[in-house]
Amino acid sequence: MARYVKDFSEGNKDQKDLLGGKGANLAEMTRLGLPVPPGFTITTEACRAYMADGEVPPELRVEVTQALRHLEDTMGRQLGDVHEPLLVSVRSGAKFSMPGMMETVLNVGLNDASVNGLTEFSGDERFAWDSYRRLIQMFGRTVLGIDGDVFADALDKAKAARGVTSDVDLTAADLRELVGTFKHIVREQSGRDFPQHPREQLDMAIVAVFNSWGTERARLYRRRERISDDLGTAVNVVTMVFGNLGPDSGTGVAFTRDPATGMTGDYGDYLANAQGEDVVAGIRNTLSLHDMEKVDPKAYRELRKVMRQLETHYRDLCDIEFTIERGKLWMLQTRVGKRTANAAFRIATQLVDEHLITMDEALSRVTGAQLSQLLFPQFAAGSDAVLLTKAMAASPGAAVGAAVFDPVTAQEWAATGKDVILVRRETNPDDLGGMIAAVGILTARGGKTSHAAVVARGMGRTAVVGAEELVIDPVARSLTCKGRTVVEGDVLAIDGSTGEVFLGDVPVVPSPVTTYLEDGLDAALAQAGDGEAAELVRAVDRILVHADQVRRLRVHANADNAADAARARRLGAQGVGLCRTEHQFLGERRVLIEHVVLAETDEDKQSALDALLPLQRGDFVELLEAMDSLPTTIRLLDPPLHEFLPDLTSLSVKVALAAERGEVDEQDVKLLAAVEHMHEANPMLGLRGVRLGLVVRGLFELQIRAICEAVADRLAAGGHPHAEIMVPLIGSVQELRLVRDMATTIMAEVSQTRGVTIDLPVGCMIELPRAALTAGRIADEAQFFSFGTNDLTQTTWGFSRDDVEGAFFAQYTSNGVLSVSPFETIDELGVGRLVKIAVDEGRATRPELGLGVCGEHGGDPESIRFFHGAGLDYVSCSPFRVPVARLEAGRAAVEGNTVSDSR
Ligand code: PEP
Ligand code: MG
Repeated sequence: MARYVKDFSEGNKDQKDLLGGKGANLAEMTRLGLPVPPGFTITTEACRAYMADGEVPPELRVEVTQALRHLEDTMGRQLGDVHEPLLVSVRSGAKFSMPGMMETVLNVGLNDASVNGLTEFSGDERFAWDSYRRLIQMFGRTVLGIDGDVFADALDKAKAARGVTSDVDLTAADLRELVGTFKHIVREQSGRDFPQHPREQLDMAIVAVFNSWGTERARLYRRRERISDDLGTAVNVVTMVFGNLGPDSGTGVAFTRDPATGMTGDYGDYLANAQGEDVVAGIRNTLSLHDMEKVDPKAYRELRKVMRQLETHYRDLCDIEFTIERGKLWMLQTRVGKRTANAAFRIATQLVDEHLITMDEALSRVTGAQLSQLLFPQFAAGSDAVLLTKAMAASPGAAVGAAVFDPVTAQEWAATGKDVILVRRETNPDDLGGMIAAVGILTARGGKTSHAAVVARGMGRTAVVGAEELVIDPVARSLTCKGRTVVEGDVLAIDGSTGEVFLGDVPVVPSPVTTYLEDGLDAALAQAGDGEAAELVRAVDRILVHADQVRRLRVHANADNAADAARARRLGAQGVGLCRTEHQFLGERRVLIEHVVLAETDEDKQSALDALLPLQRGDFVELLEAMDSLPTTIRLLDPPLHEFLPDLTSLSVKVALAAERGEVDEQDVKLLAAVEHMHEANPMLGLRGVRLGLVVRGLFELQIRAICEAVADRLAAGGHPHAEIMVPLIGSVQELRLVRDMATTIMAEVSQTRGVTIDLPVGCMIELPRAALTAGRIADEAQFFSFGTNDLTQTTWGFSRDDVEGAFFAQYTSNGVLSVSPFETIDELGVGRLVKIAVDEGRATRPELGLGVCGEHGGDPESIRFFHGAGLDYVSCSPFRVPVARLEAGRAAVEGNTVSDSR
């Protein structure tokens, strides 16, 4: 059995790993009996062997000989024969398409002798010499590495000498002369003659395709597209067919339905008397397929028949490349065609209605990423705003507003009805008011899990972060970028889906899919009218409803207040998986926590706590009302203490200035001493989470009491509250035991005073490696786990989540250490392994243990698949990502449910 070479008749479409996309589909079309020029595929395994050893495996040469002889026998012609030469194209074809990245050489087999044979065979001398000059040009550039401009210049000169402007006006004699010039160029530039031996041409072209896998631009492309460098490319050796043999020949591309809308019909371009690259080069205007019907009705009918056969077989939109050689149709390529997000949903449901696919398959044909593209208002194309820079797309959407450089101005201007974009070097909790007021947030620093990004996503606010090209001067209230200055009030437009930042207004178009998700089908249809938008909304509805029916994972939301929770619920959330209560203590309330922490006497502390209790209770009553009947997981205070205290630097400056003026404020001096005392070099690993709750007594107690009383209030009001108490940053079971005891006592007290039974589940976050590794013990005390994969990623990798993404992840992705940020998509091998250990050991201790995830990964499509496989009960994500999570959880559940190929 040959290892490295497969004839087209041996493979099929499912062998993309081995044959590459193009090879697998050529084989499939051959198998279907469609008119494919005969040929063979050199497998990706051969390329991998070549990459590993730096030389072509000796068996490959032998296998190529066998395949070539077989091909020659089939065609009844020999490669490069003097009379009726067989010519081949050598085409790259990796598993994933890498448009324009890799090499192709056409007309291999032509030389000084066989060019005459081609003249004889085609009856067209001009065509033969043109084919030969194309070979030398392509071979010189691709295989011998000669600058393509040298050939192009020589071609231009030849045209100038003849006084013509188009290639087609060169005569056979001109082209013969040009071949001489090209051969001279090859000798001069590469130090060797153009190889005359056909087999040598073939072997060199094969190696050139292998080498094109490893070029810098191909590597860069793969890194961006997250394609592994190890795959290698296949090489297809295909009998040449010619679209440039006269008016009854031609070449074209076509789609079996419109890739932008999904409508069935004729979609494609045809160019008579031309070869493949002429269509792309735009030398002459192409004809539509419709017009092709008039020019060549027979070939057109044949093409339509093949297109229908392909759709029936692939049961999907296909794109194809074809050539017509003297009236005979040849299929050069097909693949399942790329499409817009809009078309993906519509095509999927159209195919269901045509009884070509099942609803499970329709679900698997669309992605969460496509759904998100449909959710956000988008910038309309064609505006004349200036693109300032492109940075990290942190929170999707399209926002246009006046630039403001501090949160106070943001709030003031927003209060007057102005849309503002808050521009900051980075954000911190003090910016929250401004972030809420702004329609968009733009920062110069930080990554996708920086404060700005997490908070903006949580609020569904558009954000672009890490725009390092912006030089922001908050004092002057301006920014500069590439020589332009933007001052307060200038209009900025930011695209949180692409990371683009524009100077000037860009019109925004709303999405009917968002209306559907927020307000239901009827409202969306009313907005959409009855055109394409309505078809899209119906398609999204059908697929999402199906996802909800089949998914096993529940979808909860991360929501900190009643408004967010209500929105999440409208979007389909089945609970709140994480209420970050620290967000309830920002702004005006921050100082109350400061009083608790810095209180000098028990009475002072108690009075600060007493002031907080009704506020917290009020928060929870509202939240539980919004989430009535659904699980609502409330996390006790988590963040580092310093976030609740005044900033050390500003306070030091204030005290020093006051001292200079002789106006010492005793209170400030005391506060400074306390802040200095509590200052931590590494607050993320310091006094936060459960540690804070156990060390600064009173805070957790206050929160637990507020939760219990809120539950009692909701019960009294006839509600159905399902509050759960979650303890953050557990590292040891003893920590949880202490909080649990605290909770048990308080629940008993509130039950007694309020005359109701309050017995709330108590569980914990698993967000430290030690917690995951000792999950079996922690489950003794925990009724549920929720994986905090943000911190778990931070602590497993030792990556500071607020710093590294902006600092060096760009380098880490370009040098291949990371293919994607582990803060975005779960690192299955490391962090994922810890999750699995904790799931297994936790459930071994307590089979009914509730399991969920509330880190950012809960809304990431790839990670959701992983959590489905790991056996979690739910994922929890930002409200606006809930629909995406519903869809992806459905996709994970139907994976593999496809109709088998009966032909
Ligand atoms: C986490 O660490 O994954 C988590 C959800 O908590 P936070 O992001 O609030 O630290
Ligand atoms: Mg955390």
